[in-house]
Order: sequence, then C-alpha cells, then structure tokens
Amino acid sequence: MTLGLLLYFIALCAQIMAAFYAIRLFLKSHSYRFVCGFFAIGLVLMMGRRISPMLYGLNKESINIVDAWLSIPISISLLLGMIYFKKLLFELEVKNTALEEISKKDSLTPALNHSTTMIRAELEVKRSFRSQKCIAFLMLDIDHFKLVNDTHGHLMGDQVLVNLATLCQKELREINVFGRVGGEEFLIVLPETNQALAVEVANRLRIRIEESEMATVAKIPIFITVSIGISIFDPQQGKHSDASAIVREYYGLCDSAMYHAKQAGRNQVYCEPNFSVA
Ligand code: GH3
Ligand code: MG
Ligand code: MG
Repeated sequence: MTLGLLLYFIALCAQIMAAFYAIRLFLKSHSYRFVCGFFAIGLVLMMGRRISPMLYGLNKESINIVDAWLSIPISISLLLGMIYFKKLLFELEVKNTALEEISKKDSLTPALNHSTTMIRAELEVKRSFRSQKCIAFLMLDIDHFKLVNDTHGHLMGDQVLVNLATLCQKELREINVFGRVGGEEFLIVLPETNQALAVEVANRLRIRIEESEMATVAKIPIFITVSIGISIFDPQQGKHSDASAIVREYYGLCDSAMYHAKQAGRNQVYCEPNFSVA
C-alpha cells in the first residue's frame, strides 16, 4: 500500500514537471503555440490519472501495484519527451527566425530585397494615413556602373555594391527603409520627411558616397557617384486608401526623377516640386 502510494507520488511529480514544461512552452513559443497548448492540456489532465488511484487507495486501502509500477516509466518518459521537445522547439525557432531574416535580405548586399522593400514601403504609407505626415521616396542609382564592371570586373563591381549598401545603411536611420530594387538601384523610404528634408538627406548621402572609397584595386581606390530622384507623398492632399497603388505610383515618380538627374549630368539630386501633389 505505502509502496504503491510512493510510486504514484513519484510518477505524479514527474507528470507535474512535464506539464510545467508544456505550459512554459505554450507561453513562450510563437509558431508552435497550438501544439504546445494541446500538450499542456493533455499533461495537466493526465495528472488526474495519478491522483485518482492515490485517493482511491487512501479511501479503500487497496492499490493496484502493477499500475503503480507502470505509472513510473510512463510519467518519466513523458517528462523526458517534454524536455527534448522543448530543446528541439527552441532550436527550430532560432533557425526559423534566422531564415526569416535571410529571406528579407538582398542576396548580395545588406539591403532589404525587392519584395520586403515594397511591403515595408506599404506599411509606411499606411502609417502616414494615420500620422498625416509626408513620406519621401528616394531612388538611388550608381552612375556609369557598367564602366566599373567593364574596367575592374564583376567581382569588384559586387564589392562596390556591398560597400555602397553598407555605407547607406550607416548613414540612414533604423526607421528608414533601404532596399535593393534593381541591379545597381536602391529605394529609400523616409517616413515623416518633407521635400526640403528629403533633399538634404539625399545630398548628404550623395556627397558621402562621392567622397568614400568603395573598393581598392592594386592599391588604387575606386570612387563612384550616384544620381538620386525624389518623390514626396503627402497624405493630406486628396483621399487615399490603396497603399500598394501609392507605393507603385511614387516608386515610378522617384524613378523618373532619378532619370532627370541622370540627364542633368549625373551625381546630383532631382526632385520635381509638382511631384509633391498627389
Ligand atoms: P547610368 O549612369 O546611366 O546609370 O549608367 P550605368 O552603367 O550605371 O547603367 P546601365 O543600366 O547601363 O548598367 C547597369 C550595370 O549594372 C550593368 C550591369 O552589369 C551592372 N549590374 C547590375 N547588377 C549587378 C550586380 O549584381 N553585380 C555587378 N557587379 N554588376 C551589376
Ligand atoms: Mg546606373
Ligand atoms: Mg540602373
């Protein structure tokens, strides 16, 4: 009788620990919450299977000793299973987070990739509907980049792209969106930025790039220049609802502004005042 009660008690302790692990996983896990929730419910309910024979034994003074012995390996297996499941789940979540981050990034540079840039730009446009503050779209294109490739090779060209993106990211703030949207074209979205400020940021960036050594070939530094086109979305002008259409429109506008900058001689910033009219 006492041995039976002791066995059930040990099994109950193991079961409580297994349920505790499952509840903690349910509270901490993001992607696998449902599965952990069902485990937690099952393990908590199964504690009744340990408590009820103990209560029955205490009442009737008889215990099924075979069932009591069996409860030990069952509950310990559940506990060990839960411990390994927890380890596995955390490893999986770390890998998932890393993969998610990689899938947002451009394959070559530290900039965001095209689709993530568009998604982030849309979010900024939606945010501007609420804040009623302007957003600046900047299209940055390297001048005569083909010449860099032709003179120094594509590998060196890639290095220039990486260094340019790293420099831009350093110059921009965390809240700004910076993505590679073409071979040597980058889109920058500046939230809460009017035309004057956007021109200031673009010119600062342009000068920093012009003055920075982007790579070295046989100890000879490679310098580049960029042309930047700007368009400003003002949510206070007109009624807006479709954020994705606005992103497409202002992407097109800053792209044509960038071509104006090219035609005007390159290494400059162009922003048509009438672009600010939605
Ligand atoms: P512009 O001043 O008119 O912009 O001249 P450009 O030479 O920069 O423009 P163009 O469109 O003629 O050429 C773009 C070049 O960018 C051609 C292509 O080889 C290069 N390019 C595009 N993607 C990559 C890349 O991932 N790596 C490298 N190394 N080069 C790239
Ligand atoms: Mg170019
Ligand atoms: Mg280009």
